[in-house]
Amino acid sequence: MSRTDLPAHVSPFAHTPGTPEYDGGARLFRAAATPEVVLRPRTAEEVASAVGACVAAGLRIQVRSGGHGSPPCPDGALIDLGGMDDVDVSGTVVWLGAGARWEQVAEALAPHGLVITSGDTGAVGVGGLTLGGGIGWLVRTHGLTVDAVRQIEVVTADGVVRRVSADEDPDLFWAMRGGGGNFGVVTRFCVEAAPAPTLVRAELAYEPSATRALLAAWWEVMADAPDTVNSTLAVMPAISPQFPAGGLVDLVVDGTMEQAHDLLAPLLALDGLRSQSIDGCTYADLLGPTPPDDIPVTFVSGNRVVTDLTPAALDGIAALAMGEVPTMVMLRALGGAFGRVGAEETAFAHRGARALVVLNALLPEEAPTEAIDAVRADHAAVLEPGAGVYGNFSLERGSHVTAAMYPPATLERLRAVKARVDPAGVFTAAHALH
Ligand SMILES: Cc1cc2nc3c(=O)[nH]c(=O)nc-3n(C[C@H](O)[C@H](O)[C@H](O)COP(=O)(O)OP(=O)(O)OC[C@H]3O[C@@H](n4cnc5c(N)ncnc54)[C@H](O)[C@@H]3O)c2cc1C
Repeated sequence: MSRTDLPAHVSPFAHTPGTPEYDGGARLFRAAATPEVVLRPRTAEEVASAVGACVAAGLRIQVRSGGHGSPPCPDGALIDLGGMDDVDVSGTVVWLGAGARWEQVAEALAPHGLVITSGDTGAVGVGGLTLGGGIGWLVRTHGLTVDAVRQIEVVTADGVVRRVSADEDPDLFWAMRGGGGNFGVVTRFCVEAAPAPTLVRAELAYEPSATRALLAAWWEVMADAPDTVNSTLAVMPAISPQFPAGGLVDLVVDGTMEQAHDLLAPLLALDGLRSQSIDGCTYADLLGPTPPDDIPVTFVSGNRVVTDLTPAALDGIAALAMGEVPTMVMLRALGGAFGRVGAEETAFAHRGARALVVLNALLPEEAPTEAIDAVRADHAAVLEPGAGVYGNFSLERGSHVTAAMYPPATLERLRAVKARVDPAGVFTAAHALH
């Protein structure tokens, strides 16, 4: 493939290997893609031209927005939307360019006293996080990111720019709220923003010896908490002298300092509390930096959205966190507004879930397959069988993962939409609908 193989109107933003523009567009979190060509359009019309040119040239298309969730694209074309990052606010209605980062969104909305619930990391892109669901800091208060989406501007495989919503192609609108990047190139999302909350944030750190009691106390606090409370609990292996092993609770309350202290009482009373900080913060303050992506390890990760954390499940999680294989455990509380959206309203169907459990084992870079398989078996023994997988957090791909991401009826409906809008399978998503 060379730039001259593509039509003249596309070549100004088409880049081939060996150029800085190609390298910039192909850069992904913990990977670099090696497509034949990287297209970096700036408008929906340029995206439509790019799609048309790729289809005519017989190139399969992968899309990159923030680059934090794509598998390394080995060939075909990669359309990089990093330059399409406008955030336009009109009242409480916000049009988000798919290439915007969530930290940009939070910054742009702050002067208007508005927020959109997103993930926990500022540099993650709007496109990938939203299409997969979006489990963020206000998930119990406002639901998933997709729950606030009102319209989607998308270029489909026929090269047409469409606006879909509950009124315009409701099936495609449904599919793109949880079904990932299988249906076209999303250029913009229209989202209903919420009033900015008055946040109190508690960050509590614990000794490793507190792990089992901490898991139980956190789960009890979150099981009864009102929708205005959101929280994650991480149990980390020792990473460096600054980051020793132990538990970390991050709990955010839309309310007063007094309400926060009342909620936190059982957690503050636990033995092994190493440090605490409880303070007011803004939504933008919650969006953390991207972790380093050059740590020389093999991550073996698994996750489930679970309906309960029984004492036996908490025993298993604690044993993994304290086991021989260094493992990062993260629990995120769900429920609240997330659970009040019907399972059939969006393609994210697991609305009965009360928590997301993420296990991330750190193996040596050249870990043998047997060691990886052994960790997967340990994870499977702990993760609730039959519970759903959150695709945005799944580094594993394949039909077994897709089958766990979607209940059978949801998957069937997604496949029907895919067959209608992309019958030739032009778009290669992070999770194909096998
Ligand atoms: C450090 C880190 C923190 C994270 N934290 C959270 C979190 O708190 N909550 C959460 O829910 N998730 C979180 N995630 C997961 C994240 O939601 C996914 O990795 C998501 O895919 C990233 O979006 P992106 O646009 O940056 O990725 P990209 O790599 O650009 O996109 C990922 C995939 O999404 C599809 N896609 C992206 N943009 C488009 C588009 N415009 N049109 C069509 N298809 C598109 C493509 O299939 C693409 O392969 C985190 C990931 C990382 C690495």
